[in-house]
This record gives sequence, C-alpha cells and structure tokens, in this order.
Amino acid sequence: MNKEQKDISSLILNRRFQQKDTYNSISMPIYGGVAFEFDNAEEMEDAFLGKNGKYTYSRISNPTVEVFEDRVQQISEAKHVLAASSGMAAILDIFMTIAYAGSNIVTSPHLFGNTFSLFNSTLKVFEVETRFCNLLDEQEITRNIDDKTCAIFVEAITNPHLEVADLQLLSFLAHSKNVPLIADSTLVPWPAFNAKKLGVDLEIVSSTKYISGGATSIGGLIMDHQTFDWSNSPRLKELSKTVGEQAFTIKLRNEISRNTGTYMSPYVAFLQSLGLETLSLRFKKASENCLSLAKFLQTIPQIKEVNCIGLPDNPSYKMGNKQFGEYSGAMLTFNLKDRPTCFSFLNRLQVIRRATNLFDNKSLIIHPLSTIYSTLNDKCKKMIEVPNEMLRLSVGLENIEDLKEDILQALNNEKKNRTRLLSL
Ligand SMILES: *Cc1c(COP(=O)(O)O)cnc(C)c1O
Repeated sequence: MNKEQKDISSLILNRRFQQKDTYNSISMPIYGGVAFEFDNAEEMEDAFLGKNGKYTYSRISNPTVEVFEDRVQQISEAKHVLAASSGMAAILDIFMTIAYAGSNIVTSPHLFGNTFSLFNSTLKVFEVETRFCNLLDEQEITRNIDDKTCAIFVEAITNPHLEVADLQLLSFLAHSKNVPLIADSTLVPWPAFNAKKLGVDLEIVSSTKYISGGATSIGGLIMDHQTFDWSNSPRLKELSKTVGEQAFTIKLRNEISRNTGTYMSPYVAFLQSLGLETLSLRFKKASENCLSLAKFLQTIPQIKEVNCIGLPDNPSYKMGNKQFGEYSGAMLTFNLKDRPTCFSFLNRLQVIRRATNLFDNKSLIIHPLSTIYSTLNDKCKKMIEVPNEMLRLSVGLENIEDLKEDILQALNNEKKNRTRLLSL
C-alpha cells in the first residue's frame, strides 16, 4: 500500500507549538517541574475540572509532553495520543482501561518477551485470560473469540519472529464480533505504516526504539484512532453513552494514566520530540542497511535461515510489502549451528555490539533465548518458539562494509584484521 515512504519530516519540522513559548524557543523547552500555580481558587477549580486547559501537575499533563503528543498525532493521524513512561506502561494502560476479571485477550505467542509475560503471568492473576493462537489462521482466531474477548492484540511485525499478519483480515474478524483490534507497531514506524487505514483501532508503540533518536530514553505511546464503538464493552459502555467513540480516550486520560502514574517524563518528551525530526531518515537508512546485510548473510555457508521481511523469498514478504511498502524495518534474525557457535560468534564481534534494544543508531545483537526469554519456564519457551540457534540483529546506521567485515571475521575466527576500520 505505501510504495513511497511518507515524508513525515517536514510535517514535524513545520509544526509550531499550540501555545507560543515565552522566549520563542524553537525546541520546546523542558518544563521539568511538577506543579503549576494559579491566580485564584476559581481558576484552580476549573483546571482540576479540565475546563480551562491549564496544567496542574506533571503526572497528569505537562506542556513539554503535550508538544511531543501533538507531533505524534500529526504523523500517526490518530485522533488522540497519550505518551507513557515505556512501551510496557502503554500496553498495561490499555488493558487497565478495557480488561476485566473474566475477560480474555486473543493474541499470538509470538510476542516481545515482557508482553508475553504481562499477559501470561501478570494479568492472569487478575483473572484476565490470554488465548494464544496462530494469528495467521483465520479459523483459529474465530474459534477463540467469544463474548468475553476484550481485544485482539497483534504485533504488526512480531519480535523476533518477524511474522506479519493480515491486519485488514484481523480487523474484519474482530469487528464482526464487536472486538477492538490493538496493534503494537514498534517494529514498523509511521513513515511506512498507517494503522488506521488497515483497520487498527488502538495502536501502541515503544518509542524507546525508532523514535527516541538513538536509544536516548525509554518511552511509550498509545494512539486511539477512535474507530471503535465501545457501547458493548463492559468497562466503557456507560461512558460511551455520553462521549461515543471517545470513551477509551477519556477513561485512559482522565482516570487510568494518572492512577497508574505512567505518564511520560518531560525530559524524555524533549529527547523524543527531537528523535521524531529524523525518524524518516534514520528508518530509511537502517532499513536499507538491514536488507543489504540480509542478502549478504544469505551468501555465507555457515549462516542458516536468514529471516528478513524484505527478502523476496521470505514468508512475510508479500504481506509486509502490501502493508508497509518498500521498507520493512531494520531487524533481522539468522541461525548458526548451535548455541555454543552463537556464543563464540557473539564474543568475537568488534563493531556490532552485544546489547538488547532495537533501532539504536548502532547495530546491536542478542541471543534471545538465553536473555530476553531466559526466565520463562520450559512450557512457555516451547510456546514462544524461539530456537536456541537464533541470533537477533538490529541493524544501525554504520557503513555496511564495516558490518559485513565484522561478521566475516567473527565467523572465521580470524585474528583482528580490521584493515578497513583500522585505516579509518
Ligand atoms: C521493546 C518493545 C516493547 C516494550 O517497550 P519498552 O519501551 O521497552 O517498555 C513492546 N513491544 C515491542 C514489540 C518491543 O520491541
């Protein structure tokens, strides 16, 4: 659908603040303080009732964070955006708003590690059941939805399997049973993706990743496209009688986010607002690097099963291309012979860093099963289907030749022969 990347840079660079800054600062200053003073008690009362748009307390709202939310709203085309203290906080807040004891979530076991654990352990204690199924299988999805299903939750590109479900189909299946579709679009940012056009109702993003501008800070975002009718939701039906499709947004903003204390810090919002300005450029360059590296890895005999959505022989290629266009992100995985081979390969790398995180400006590599998924019991490890011989690589903005050279030297166990790099 998106053959061309949407140019979000100028959209952001030309966007002025809603309220003029006192000193005409071009970057929104960090309003790092907690409280805001009022001229009189009446104004203060109105502020607490949300009648005059004034700030009261930075756990509830903050001018620096609002500028970030406004920019995200511009580029995501969401009706409402709420910034959270992390991607996990954003996911938690969504389910604190819609789930209830006895309800269930239909999702895939192919999930980011903490999301899996949130569903499988944390929410379970509150009697929210998670039904793990294959989101590529229409019948399995339909079989798992019932009148207690509070959402279908899907990662638009799954981490680390790089699976791509048909979002329009998921949206159709969900809506035909009065269930909202929630997508985690952390792995495919807005230059390539418009969630609303594919029928996603609520979108969450870990802004720690692409958006932060090179791993500057932890943050999360909740986008409400206000496309879902909440009148059958046990948690939101009362509210929806008066505010209609804004019921989720209003509950989230006026109750949940302030009660969970998960609002974004203004320091983070400042950094991530700057990150947004270069998002398009970084995403394009990192995605290009990722695809060329994937093609290169396919030519190396020791490397098996190179998984990158942009490779035409990849099972997710067609759907990825249809939904996200030419650039499908900067993450790939590949397999080596076994776990010891993975470990010694990791230990010999000199340019690519051994670290967890995605979409830093630097390339990062990790052995997911021994790290991200290491605390899961054997049954859960089986469910998530991450093989022991798999490595996950998040490709950065380095010169691609340096990355290739590093991989070759680490595979061949050669002594330090970084001629190109040493000559730089
Ligand atoms: C990292 C990540 C998260 C969690 O985000 P944090 O900002 O680390 O809390 C959620 N979903 C996906 C797909 C991720 O990659």
